[in-house]
This record gives sequence, structure tokens and C-alpha cells, in this order.
Amino acid sequence: MRYETHLAFSAAISQVVAIFVGEPVSLLLTSMLGSILPDIDHPNSFIGRRVPLVPTMIRNKFGHRTVTHSLQGLFGVTVITLVVLLVLQTSLKLSISFLHLVLGIVLGYGSHILADAFNPTGICLLYPKPNRYSLGKIRLNSPQETYFCLVSLCFTALLVRVNFC
Ligand SMILES: [Zn+2]
Repeated sequence: MRYETHLAFSAAISQVVAIFVGEPVSLLLTSMLGSILPDIDHPNSFIGRRVPLVPTMIRNKFGHRTVTHSLQGLFGVTVITLVVLLVLQTSLKLSISFLHLVLGIVLGYGSHILADAFNPTGICLLYPKPNRYSLGKIRLNSPQETYFCLVSLCFTALLVRVNFC
């Protein structure tokens, strides 16, 4: 799916979770950041065009929608995010609660994997097992993807109203 669709879907997911745990703004921003990370395995993706070398290396070694679109990738990003935030908190002596930031990244990353599972090509959720899992028939740049994106935006708007009013 397009990065705009991932941003919209992650925003909706983050606002659902914010109803229960609060922090709607930090969850919104961090989940949107997390939602673009899995496509670092593609040199022409939104993030792939902004990061040198890494996307090509990942794509050549693993392929597209494999390790970065798996539970293993989700776990890896969770650990990396925790370590980076712990180091930042310790070295900068910040007194922020970073659990919401980690939760947002994990939600965004997970929402990306879920959204890509609606593509007929599917994802390698249990990588390194080669099986691909698909939940739907929403093709890239199709009218169905546009509809999925618009519905996600509508839900986000509704939920932001719930969280902020
Ligand atoms: Zn993807």
C-alpha cells in the first residue's frame, strides 16, 4: 500500500488505543512514524528514497515484504526503539515517560503489517518461513486502496474528536 494509506490506517489504530491509554498526540505521531518503517526494504518506498544503501541491502538479502513485514521484524523494531529511547533518556537525563512512544512505534509498525496483509501478495508474517499470508484483495493504487485510506481517515477524525472532546 501507499505510505499515505499506512499513515491514515496507523492514525486510526493509534486513536482507538488512545481511548484506553490516553496520550493521543504522542501515539498519533509515533504510530505514523512506525507505519512507514517496514517499507525500508524497498528502495522506491517513501522511506526507502530517504535512507541511503539500507533499503537496497535489505531487498537484495531478504526481498520485499519478508523480514521487515514479520513478527520477527516487529520484535526487532520494538527492542531497537526501547534501547534507543533508554539511551536517549539516560544520556540526556530526560524525565519523559517513553512507554507511549514505544507503544506508538509498535502500533504503527504492526498496523503496516496488517494493512499489507490485505494485499493479495500477502506478507511473510512468520519469516523465515516462506509462507505468505493474505487477508484480502486490495491491490496497490487501486480504488479499493483509496477507499481503505478514506475510511481510515474518517475513523481517525471521529476518534480524534472522541479523544480531544
Ligand atoms: Zn509494506
